[in-house]
Amino acid sequence: MASPRDHAPLAERVEELLGPGGPLPIVAAGDPVLRRGTEPYDGQLTPALLARFVEALRVTMHAAPGVGLAAPQVGVPLRIAVIEDPAPVPAEVAAARGRVPQPFRVLVNPAYQPVGTARAAFFEGCLSVPGWQAVVARHAEVRLRGQDENGRALDEVFAGWPARIVQHETDHLDGMLYLDRAELRSLSSTEAMTERWTQPTPATAAQALGFTLP
Ligand code: ZN
Repeated sequence: MASPRDHAPLAERVEELLGPGGPLPIVAAGDPVLRRGTEPYDGQLTPALLARFVEALRVTMHAAPGVGLAAPQVGVPLRIAVIEDPAPVPAEVAAARGRVPQPFRVLVNPAYQPVGTARAAFFEGCLSVPGWQAVVARHAEVRLRGQDENGRALDEVFAGWPARIVQHETDHLDGMLYLDRAELRSLSSTEAMTERWTQPTPATAAQALGFTLP
């Protein structure tokens, strides 16, 4: 059985990380912390430290800006992520992508399973892979189970863009990056995205770049 002492190093690392205040540095692809997977959260941080860590994730996600951030992306190998999406996109884009506003949420020990067999393919990006986006076909709907930051059980079905966000963030906790699941022929720089691929769906990009959509 683990004693509090066994968890001391991780809590100390988080204390140190939060020391300077403000947004945390985001770890980029190539750092092994993004590939090793995470420990389930089981009280390694005191409730007060967990609350400060979650707040730091929120501040960092907003500053980036992004719609989700997983603990390994700030170098902490714990199974914790935050999500929030105000969905500031044109109505046509929002409708095609199911991009409905998603309030701030903390996901503790999340795991997902597909609901049905439908898949949805859209461009997505990652704060740990700055400057690039690629098309990823993901489950259109997933059932997400885990806890919230207060230890209350979470069991919810996500659809549309929020389903994409929770899959992307949960994958981070398993040491996966979106590029592992991406259609690599779709890989596009931010410049190419802005100039060419702002359509509501990636159909035009698929034709021009030579990849298939589900
Ligand atoms: Zn990411």
